[in-house]
Amino acid sequence: MGGSVGPCTRSGDLVSNLIDQFGRTIEYLRISVTDRCNFRCRYCMPLEGLPWLPKSDILSYEEIREVVAQLAPLGLRRIRLTGGEPTIRPQLDTLVRFIRDIPGVDDIALSTNGVKLPEMAGRLAAAGLDRVNISADSLRADRIVAIARRDLGFDPVAAAQAAEDAGLAPIKLNVVVMRGVNDDEVVDFARLTLDHPWHVRFIELMPVGALEPMTEEMVVPSDELLSRISDALGPLSPGGGPARGNGPAAYYSLADSAGSVGVITPMTHTYCGSCNRVRLTADGRLRTCLFGDHEVDLRAPLRAGEPLAPFVHRALAEKPEAHALLTHRVGGLRALSQVGG
Ligand code: SAM
Ligand code: SF4
Repeated sequence: MGGSVGPCTRSGDLVSNLIDQFGRTIEYLRISVTDRCNFRCRYCMPLEGLPWLPKSDILSYEEIREVVAQLAPLGLRRIRLTGGEPTIRPQLDTLVRFIRDIPGVDDIALSTNGVKLPEMAGRLAAAGLDRVNISADSLRADRIVAIARRDLGFDPVAAAQAAEDAGLAPIKLNVVVMRGVNDDEVVDFARLTLDHPWHVRFIELMPVGALEPMTEEMVVPSDELLSRISDALGPLSPGGGPARGNGPAAYYSLADSAGSVGVITPMTHTYCGSCNRVRLTADGRLRTCLFGDHEVDLRAPLRAGEPLAPFVHRALAEKPEAHALLTHRVGGLRALSQVGG
């Protein structure tokens, strides 16, 4: 099998064999459990949906468990379940339980649009889910429907509260900021962090997918967002972010706040140099960069009963040094729902 990886490295007690060609240690796998969704967010998915994967192409929970079980001894430590919308795949708690039982995995997180959290948070926490990121682009009911293009009665504050009540922590709210659409709500979102131990993260809109009218002028740089918040609510001090799962966000906090404000800036600042993650698509392809098209199929060897390590090492040997997002035109790349955003 072609490609090689760097030598094993030791970080703390852990010996990792998942090192890419630029020396980055990979310990984090984002698993897309479905390409489908109950929302049609205008920056993510066309109104009519996408050509969904046939069920037989999608990895079963047992197959996902096998992928994680083979990667954990190599150094995989952290898992995020995403999609599409992971909570619409039946019995998601079964998958959480499977992964919880795999030695070496010390963190299981979920990315969700939050619609089903009030009914599912308790069950997912009981199965072993550690924490949750909730996508919430507005606090106003009519605007949520306008952005998500489905009226499912989503209430972001109720969803976050349900997650907190279930013991999931830390709780992060992810807001994709779009100029002229929801950028007038950044102060309202930041105000939530005064009383709730929630981490509100503003994400720069990314020009991916075949989307509703969306232009680069809609990207609101994080520096502008932070100024608007401090002008309205007082100074923001660096720090105060969640104890675990910091990822690519930079965190700030308002005086005496229970939570924090974060910014994720794929468009104005890159963080590829410290990238520690790869993605597993719903149909079993290992994707080494969210914005690159390089993928290695794990499903065929998995279903043939072959060991996955050589395929994983080959993928890591070709993981790009940095993403090409800034050089692509709007609409040129696959939607994040298809690659496990
Ligand atoms: N359905 C789940 C959710 O919405 O959290 C998980 C999948 S969704 C693809 C993961 C994240 O990608 C969400 O936070 C969403 O807001 C973000 N996302 C999707 N398209 C985006 C875009 N064009 N720009 C920035 N973020 C995007
Ligand atoms: Fe669905 Fe998440 Fe994409 Fe919205 S961002 S359409 S909730 S996958």
